[in-house]
Amino acid sequence: MELNWNQIDDKWRSRWYDAKHFETDPNDKPKKFITVAYPYPNSPQHIGHGRTYTLADVHSRYYRMKGYNVLFPMGFHYTGTPILGMSKRVQANDVELIEAFKKLYNVPEEKIKEFVDPVKIADYFHEEIKAGMIEMGYSIDWRREFTTIIPAYQKFIEWQFRNLKQKNLIVQGNHPVGWCPNDQNPVSQHDTLGDVEPDFTEYIVIKFNMGHEIIPVATLRPETLFGVTNLWINPKIVYKKVKVDGETWIISTECAYKLEFLNKKIEIISDIPGSELIGKKVTSPTSEDEFLIIPASFVTAATGTGIVMSVPAHAPYDFQALEDIKNGNQKNISDSLRSEVQKIQPVAIITTDGFGKIPAQDVIKRMGITNQNDPKLEDATKEIYSKEFYEGKLNSNTGKFAGKKITFVKDEVKEWISKTGKSDIMLELTNESVKCRCGTECVVKLLNNQWFLDYANKEWKKKARDCFESMNILPNDIRTEFLNVLDWLRERACARQHGLGTKIPWDSDWLVESLADSVIYMSFYTMAKFVNSGEILADNMSDEFFNYVFYGNGDSSAIANGAKITIEKLEEIRNEFLYFYPVDSRHSGRDLVPNHLTFFVLNHVALFPKENWPKEIVVNGSVLMDGKKMSKSMGNIIPLRNAVKMYGADPIRLSILISAELLQDADFNIESVSGIKNKLQSMHDECIKFNSSEKIGTEPEDIWIQSRLSKLISEVTDSMEKMRLRESLHHILYGFDSDLQWYMKRANAKNRDDISGVLNKVISIRVSMLSPFAPHIAEEMWEKLGNSEMVSKSSWPKEEEQTDDGIVQSESLLSSVMNDISNITKVTKITPKKIIIYTSDKWKSKAYHKILSGVISGETNVGVFIKELISQKETENVKKDPDFVKKTLKDILSEPTDLRKTKMCAGEIDETKIISNELSSLIETDYGIKLQVFCESDSEKYDPKNKARMARPYKPAILIE
Ligand SMILES: [Zn+2]
Repeated sequence: MELNWNQIDDKWRSRWYDAKHFETDPNDKPKKFITVAYPYPNSPQHIGHGRTYTLADVHSRYYRMKGYNVLFPMGFHYTGTPILGMSKRVQANDVELIEAFKKLYNVPEEKIKEFVDPVKIADYFHEEIKAGMIEMGYSIDWRREFTTIIPAYQKFIEWQFRNLKQKNLIVQGNHPVGWCPNDQNPVSQHDTLGDVEPDFTEYIVIKFNMGHEIIPVATLRPETLFGVTNLWINPKIVYKKVKVDGETWIISTECAYKLEFLNKKIEIISDIPGSELIGKKVTSPTSEDEFLIIPASFVTAATGTGIVMSVPAHAPYDFQALEDIKNGNQKNISDSLRSEVQKIQPVAIITTDGFGKIPAQDVIKRMGITNQNDPKLEDATKEIYSKEFYEGKLNSNTGKFAGKKITFVKDEVKEWISKTGKSDIMLELTNESVKCRCGTECVVKLLNNQWFLDYANKEWKKKARDCFESMNILPNDIRTEFLNVLDWLRERACARQHGLGTKIPWDSDWLVESLADSVIYMSFYTMAKFVNSGEILADNMSDEFFNYVFYGNGDSSAIANGAKITIEKLEEIRNEFLYFYPVDSRHSGRDLVPNHLTFFVLNHVALFPKENWPKEIVVNGSVLMDGKKMSKSMGNIIPLRNAVKMYGADPIRLSILISAELLQDADFNIESVSGIKNKLQSMHDECIKFNSSEKIGTEPEDIWIQSRLSKLISEVTDSMEKMRLRESLHHILYGFDSDLQWYMKRANAKNRDDISGVLNKVISIRVSMLSPFAPHIAEEMWEKLGNSEMVSKSSWPKEEEQTDDGIVQSESLLSSVMNDISNITKVTKITPKKIIIYTSDKWKSKAYHKILSGVISGETNVGVFIKELISQKETENVKKDPDFVKKTLKDILSEPTDLRKTKMCAGEIDETKIISNELSSLIETDYGIKLQVFCESDSEKYDPKNKARMARPYKPAILIE
């Protein structure tokens, strides 16, 4: 009968709920505190979100079965601007957004009307996400749930901020930030479309003079000033004459707009078409040299000032644009200008091994570039830039900088020009276009007297580095990524003007930014329980209260008094923190490595003593849908709750986990869901079939299957410890099937009817190991197996202390002989009338084990073995058959080392006895004939083909007639 997944889900969820199964309080057991980055409730969760939470849930459930008291809590992050932006769009009756709410998210009409209030949006999706988490079966302690705008949390954040400020880790200063001009707010990854972290590049602006006016150009290579031959403008751009801090500049409109955010005083005077500038001359800021302004199409208004200096010897674009004019490719150039341009010659200022005198000319020739619109110019530029930067030296025409390496001289040149007052700094976004979630193009803003978290602080970084180096990071490859992030991290704005959240405690014009109020909240879970039950009130939570709970500072009776609670309650709250802290495992998606996860560590090392620093970070990749990225525009987003309704929670959980290990992208597709459903269904049916706890037999195959089971447990446990969940799942679901097949074959051949005890044990262990992954169906199976307790309450299976290696080897001997026979009959196409097996002589077995022991201790030389074996009486027969040693050594070396060790432990096995006793029934079942077994040295043996002498230990000779 086909399973009703939704019904099973409901049944077990309500049992867990009734049993308060996941409500975790301190007790005598060792604890594990597992957390996941809490969701931002501005939309329902889709399958992609399910991955991180499912991983953390499996982790939690696994540790519970291992005997830990596991706390897995959840909160909701309301802080930030995007929800505010959404509510503004609802107020403005934005059709696109309202349609998305209706059609994509199925929000009822009357709810959407309430969305003019941002908190209503957050509340709505908060409940939606929470319902989905419950439906997915996450083992969360919901008594500790909170949002980041409840008063108690705000008290906690105020404490965090005052504390950081006292430690001088929040500083006031002038620093650049990514900025949304519409929201008047700094932006970080969480505020941008496509979650882009805005990064910026510093350009040096060099001021050329044109009479009383200044023609500024922005460059990343100030040292190339020495090689300038002309300036470029785009005749199609209408430039602006602008008063910039009292000077008159000619720049693009875009540049003027951007400069305002960099604190320049801007006053537009008039328009000046690019064409009017053609043929004019400017003078160098550092010499008497004069340069011609000429037109080029590659100049854009959006980069720098919209005017570019030309360094043809080292910049391929410049070289080619000049060539285009000289050879007449460039139209609309007057003859007189062209003849002026003919006189311009590249000025080489850098020498680099591997380039000729004029590097740009070299590379252009090599790449076959013939005009300035060729996209290959980009590659040419990159090649020269990086080679010159790392290997180039300045020529003698660069004055006091001659002979210096570019890598080191850049800053010197920058400083030198700056001292003349003929330069400036301009910051631009490195990422080509960063859009705020409100749709506005972001800019770089120089914020003055703004609050910054001093992530540039060297001591702070060092502490965080220590923490990263000592903690467990899964997968470990990502550790260096964290260390790199720490290296480049600089001051980070931690205040915003708008949005939901907590006010900066000493400056009520500003709100705490969303990546600053979400870094130590795991500690708040330990007290959220008391807040939610009303045992402590937000109004009574002072800094002294937090200092006592987190640090044990102060006088408990005075603090309890102030907090209007009993001393006992205060102690209980403190003990709750002491018991659960530190965080044992923090789960998150990879996109949070350069921000949240790094800030999480930084803030913990700043605010908590070493024993409360986080112990582990687990990072996972994203989820693809049928191999493609999920996105609204692709229309391939399945809301999590819909998926659960359609397929059941467990098939969704398994298909998210089974296709990839942690960092890889997981692929979700319907075929895999239905494959998993079938597998679970058949496991479920087996549970009904083998529900008796009959006595377990003692036949060799009974002992064998139990030692295989023990090996399965150890393999799965090993992968679980490393959070290699894909591997664990494969072992649990599929890894045991071939062993079971062999067992059934053996039992059937013997016509046994006493195997349900063993099968019950096998399926029970598989179900219990499956239960962290597929908790609902595993409970159902467990119940069908006749258990009265829940499987989620059971212990993780332990591997048997002792396994019988002899029997393991015997069984593998039997199965390999069966395999060989089947291969021979397949190849020769004979229907066997006789099957004869010859086992090897006693001396061969002795020799085999000597060689095995030699290999284990590192010997692999055939000659050494032969000499050694001949010298001993019991193996002297080797001299008659030295080839045996060669073949045996090859056999052994082709086997994995752990198998060599098991064989060693198993010792010599009596192959004749095993094969006579155990193989006959199999041969009779499969081929309907009697098996004959001889020992190689048997004088009575039937051996017409003289095969017996080929027998080797574990490789008996076979004759089929
Ligand atoms: Zn915006």
